[in-house]
Amino acid sequence: MFVPHLGCPRNCVFCNQRSIASPHEPSAEEVAREIESALGRSGDGAELAFYGGSFTAIEREKRLAYLEAARPFLRDGRLSSIRVSTRPDAIDAEIMDELHRYGVETVELGAQSTDDRVLELSERGHTREDIARASELLKREGFTLGLQMMIGLPGEKPDGHITTARDLVRFGADFVRVYPTVVVKNTALEDMWRAGLYTALTPERAAELSADVLEIFEKAGVPVIRLGLNPTEELCGEVAAGAYHPALGDMARGVLMRRRAERVLPPYRHAKEAALFVARGRTSTMTGQHRCNLELLEKEFDIGRLKVIERDTLEGFEVVI
Ligand code: SF4
Repeated sequence: MFVPHLGCPRNCVFCNQRSIASPHEPSAEEVAREIESALGRSGDGAELAFYGGSFTAIEREKRLAYLEAARPFLRDGRLSSIRVSTRPDAIDAEIMDELHRYGVETVELGAQSTDDRVLELSERGHTREDIARASELLKREGFTLGLQMMIGLPGEKPDGHITTARDLVRFGADFVRVYPTVVVKNTALEDMWRAGLYTALTPERAAELSADVLEIFEKAGVPVIRLGLNPTEELCGEVAAGAYHPALGDMARGVLMRRRAERVLPPYRHAKEAALFVARGRTSTMTGQHRCNLELLEKEFDIGRLKVIERDTLEGFEVVI
């Protein structure tokens, strides 16, 4: 259930929920109707997610009405659990009690960065300490913790994305979502960009930086369940600049695999032919769009022809030769 902008105490510089989504605020009855119809499509045992705003900061009466609307479906087992997205400064003991009572099992926090200066320039209104504290509370209370980060926000240092990713691992993320910054029209970030005060990421640069954090999360065993904004029709006409590309996730994973290949290829420089072994289903990621990864590697290592072969014994982004 999309709850656009509800509970948001401010406008973060990069966000204009009203321009990327219908501003319609669902009523509790609509939530119940939507659950019913979604269960018809997905079958029983689905998870209900409230996203798009700051769920735990929505006024109490409305928040409870939403949770009450979901209750009968949880009771009869048609819904398995509930997930909510919120801000790190909107979590406390009372809220967690309420979430437990209503069957919420997963909480996603929009962390975005763990650099206080970046958070300030983005007008997030919370600090790194808020993220650390909320994460600790949620983990201690047994919630599944999702943390969202952005890359390329105003004021981010060259290795700021790496620091943020390491912090999210340290804070105990069970999964993460990574969003390289997109300049959406009618936002403060668009004004900053037009005034020359902010340099937008290109999709290519965003893929390189995203590969850095993919590496960190993969090593730590933290799943990245989303990389890049969903290419929705509403968003399409609203992008002014930045890391918007429908295949950004594939591009980033391709960069990561190309880097892995670069580590194993040096002994095969000038070879006539060589084969890269990858996990099942990873051929296209290794090959890259229009064979771009392989062509780059063939040139870099002066190899006549590179082949990609899948092996059941390999996992994730492993590349061996
Ligand atoms: S808290 Fe989230 S939904 Fe609210 S303005 Fe900021 S980014 Fe947008």
